[in-house]
Amino acid sequence: MENRNRQVLLKRRPTGAPTAGDFEITDAPLPDPAEGDVLVRGIYLSLDPYMRGRISGVRSYARPVEVGAVMEGRVVGEVARSRDPGFGEGDYVLGGFGWQLYSAVLGQGLLKLDPAEAPLSTALGVLGMPGLTAYVGLDEIGKPKHGETVVVSAASGAVGAVVGQLARRHGARVVGVAGGSDKCRWVEAELGFEVCIDHRSADLGAALDRACPTGIDVYWENVGGTVQQAVFPRLNDFARMVMCGMVAEYNDVEPRPGPNLMSAVRKRLKIQGFIVGDRWQRFVEYRAMAAPLLRSGELKYREDIVDGLDRAPEAFIGLLQGRNFGKLVVKLGDDPTRRA
Ligand code: NDP
Repeated sequence: MENRNRQVLLKRRPTGAPTAGDFEITDAPLPDPAEGDVLVRGIYLSLDPYMRGRISGVRSYARPVEVGAVMEGRVVGEVARSRDPGFGEGDYVLGGFGWQLYSAVLGQGLLKLDPAEAPLSTALGVLGMPGLTAYVGLDEIGKPKHGETVVVSAASGAVGAVVGQLARRHGARVVGVAGGSDKCRWVEAELGFEVCIDHRSADLGAALDRACPTGIDVYWENVGGTVQQAVFPRLNDFARMVMCGMVAEYNDVEPRPGPNLMSAVRKRLKIQGFIVGDRWQRFVEYRAMAAPLLRSGELKYREDIVDGLDRAPEAFIGLLQGRNFGKLVVKLGDDPTRRA
C-alpha cells in the first residue's frame, strides 16, 4: 500500500469549457479508517457528464463540489483495511469515493460487488448508474412500443448504448446519432441499431428524414444543441421526448434559446426530464435484469479506459467534446480480477 493519497481537487470554477488549470493534482496523507469505516483502494473511477454541473456555481438538484475539495465521482475499489465487521480485506465495493486513490468511508451504504457476476468496471457503466438511467427513463417515460421509431443521441455512449439495446428488445426500430464514422459503425454493427447518423454530417435533417420515414415516436435526448434542433420538428403526434441530458450545452456560458413549444400542444407531445438519483430503489431490479443479458452477450457494452488518476482532468475535458468512445473510466490501480 502506498503511504500517500493522490487526489484531484477542484482548483477554480471553470467558465465555459474546463481546462487542466481548473484542477489540481496533489498528494495527501493516507486516510485513517475510524471505527465502522473501511479504507478503500480505488481501482476504477467513473467520469460522467453530470460532473460539469457539479463544478459550476449554478444551483442544481445536487450540491456543488467546493473549490479546494476532492472532485466527486463513483469508484469501484478494494477494501484495504476494514473496521466494519460487514467487510473484509479484499472485498470489492462501489461508492462515491471521488477522484483519489484511497478513501476511508463508512462501510454502511457501500455496495459489495461480486467479480464473478460481471467485470468490476461494469458497475460504473452498463450495470451501474448509466445503465439504470437508460432502464428507468425508457420504462417510465419513453415507453417504446413494437414498431415505433426511437432516436437516441450520444448513441455509442454509456447511457445511449443501453437505451438503444433495450428499446430494440421492446421491438422498436432504433436510430442512433453519434459523432463520427467509427462510433456509427460500432452502433450499427455491434449494438444492432437500424442505422446510426453522424451528427457532424452536412445535413442532419435530411439524414433523419431518410432514417425515419414515418417520423420519430421517442427521442432520447442526451446532447441538445443541433441534434435536438434537427429532431424536434420530426417528432410524431404523441411522441415522447425523454430529457436525460444536454451534454453539448454543458460548457455554455449562457443558456441557448429553446425550441418553440407550440408543437408540443399541437402534437400532444410528452417532454419529461428525470434524474436517475430519484430512482436508486430500482438499481437492484435493473442489475437483476441486465447482468444475465450481459453474461449471455445480449447486452453489449464498450468502455474507454484511461490509465492513471493524473489523466482524469484531461479525460473529463475530452468527454465534454465527444472524445470518449464508450463509457469513460479511469483506471486508478491494479484490478486483481483482471490479471493475465
Ligand atoms: P457518454 O458516454 O455518452 O459521453 C458523452 C457523449 O456526449 C460524447 O461521447 C459525445 O458523443 C457526446 N457529446 C459530448 N460533447 C458533445 C458536443 N459538444 N456535441 C455533441 N455531442 C457531444 O455520456 P453518458 O452516457 O454518461 O451521458 C449521456 C447523457 O446522459 C449526458 O447528457 C448526461 O448528462 C446524461 N445523464 C443523465 C442522467 C440523469 O439522471 N438524467 C444520468 C446519467 C447521464 P458523440 O461523439 O457521439 O456525440
